[in-house]
Amino acid sequence: MHEHDDDAKALMALVFQYAAERMAMDPPPLDRPLTPEQLGQLAGQTITPDGLGGAEALRLFVDVLSPACLSIDHPRYLSFVPCAPTEAASLFDVIVSASSIYGGSWLEGAGAVYAENQALRWLADLAELPPGAGGTFVSGGSIANLSALAVARRVWRDADPARADRRPTVLLSGGAHSSNASACELLDLRTALVEVDERDRITAAGLRNAIEGLAADQRASVCAVVATAGLTNVGTVDDLAAAADVAAELGAWFHVDAAYGGAALCSTTRRHLFAGIDRADSMTIDPHKWLFSPYDCAAILYRDPQLARRTFTQHASYLDVLTETDDWSPSDYAPHLSRRARGLPTWFSLAVYGTDAYRDAVDATLRTTEEAAALIGSCDHLELVVEPELSVLVFRRRGWARPDYERWSARLLDDQVGFVVPTAWRGETVLRMCITNPRTTLDDVRACLPD
Ligand SMILES: *Cc1c(COP(=O)(O)O)cnc(C)c1O
Repeated sequence: MHEHDDDAKALMALVFQYAAERMAMDPPPLDRPLTPEQLGQLAGQTITPDGLGGAEALRLFVDVLSPACLSIDHPRYLSFVPCAPTEAASLFDVIVSASSIYGGSWLEGAGAVYAENQALRWLADLAELPPGAGGTFVSGGSIANLSALAVARRVWRDADPARADRRPTVLLSGGAHSSNASACELLDLRTALVEVDERDRITAAGLRNAIEGLAADQRASVCAVVATAGLTNVGTVDDLAAAADVAAELGAWFHVDAAYGGAALCSTTRRHLFAGIDRADSMTIDPHKWLFSPYDCAAILYRDPQLARRTFTQHASYLDVLTETDDWSPSDYAPHLSRRARGLPTWFSLAVYGTDAYRDAVDATLRTTEEAAALIGSCDHLELVVEPELSVLVFRRRGWARPDYERWSARLLDDQVGFVVPTAWRGETVLRMCITNPRTTLDDVRACLPD
């Protein structure tokens, strides 16, 4: 701990040198996971009574641990939702770490909270949420959705004392991200499923059927309607206006989960898909997915943040100086207290490059996706199974079954060509690619298609 000044300086030089080298890699190695046994052999016991010293511990990370972590920013990492931070965002993450800022309260972190709030305001403006909207950055879309549904439950219960110990219902579709069902489970909420169309979207007709399928008492107990703007599996967008209508009709909270797709609000070509998002009571959007920020960074925004404050503010005598004020404190808007100012890398990157650069970068990924869809369409042995709307491609390799896809996918990673894993569509194993990295080119996609 009591390092000699020279040791500290030497370690600082080593760390900054490695960080600079990693950020300059274009592309970084894709890398691959190892087993616990392999890592045990290569790294051994890393935590010892005497310590390994900075140089050796860093060497272990650079030579052994880091190569056993996939580079999510590799242009041929096309699985799940890639995260490709801008240089400015990654660099500023280093500054956040060096600055020891408490991001939970205005009293302690006013400057950081001010900057985070400007980034949140940009997101709110993209969705055309009213001037009073606000929220906070949390670790991920899962926590953002949990936060939204906790507020929805609270608002529903507060509306009538007789509801205090009743279990309300959330309307959502089978295409909604698993974190919504998980949040319902954690919050002890019932769920009612909305049927979806041929692209997995919620439609007005599906919502109508869902409501008609509910008993009268359950209809009165719907506390929230969840719609998804950018379904994670297939990248399509629910009919948000229809979902907003139904939420209004039921007197329920309207939550839009735009964790993945919300970035397309800043594109020049897809804004129409989001009609109705301005009516959201809450919205999730993850800068660590398609808005070029490092993990972990997700925004939860509320139309009326006071409702969230009523749900989440923690009361304790040692906190009174923070909570018994009108200050805007991020800890009031999600189930967290201490927090890293994790929105700052997003803020810095927006401040450095400007919002037009974000529009252009999102447009570039959408164009690559369109070209890739055309390429897949031109291959006789491949077939798109869902018409793409945003930047997800779901397609089959004719004649293949699950084991063929799995073998091919493992080989692609083994050969360090790319990372593409199968998903399922209506019970059938198919391939899925998600393009959120502006450095991904059509040639990268071509290299990751099965023969
Ligand atoms: C990824 C995703 C989530 C979960 O976000 P995390 O940041 O991984 O917790 C929730 N909803 C949607 C639509 C997503 O795409």
